[in-house]
Amino acid sequence: MRCLACKNMFRVKITWSNIFLDKKYYLCDECTNKYKVNYNYVTIPLDSLIEIFYIFDTTYDVNPISFLLERRFIFEFILKKYNLNKIIFLYYDTFNDFYNDIDNINELALFNRKIVVLVTYFSNL
Ligand SMILES: [Zn+2]
Repeated sequence: MRCLACKNMFRVKITWSNIFLDKKYYLCDECTNKYKVNYNYVTIPLDSLIEIFYIFDTTYDVNPISFLLERRFIFEFILKKYNLNKIIFLYYDTFNDFYNDIDNINELALFNRKIVVLVTYFSNL
């Protein structure tokens, strides 16, 4: 397999603990250790209360698409916590992308629905 982050080829060692798991691997061990996941959550009171879930509290020089499993994990959590039909769900790669879109998000607040945002890289401006 090719690691999505560093693009190096890697091999997953088959052991008794993973032989029957239908798990896909997108990152090599080195990158998994290098990019430490830090799932967290903040709320920001704009025109409505915006709940932001994020995966990293910093920004790495890696395409956020690499963190498919990490994103799926937190998205499944959001699916359990909220009814997607009753909220507005948004995804941004970085907090800056979110911040640049703030005018549109304030427009969405007019719908009177909870706004839930998933951000891969959450770091200060
Ligand atoms: Zn890698």
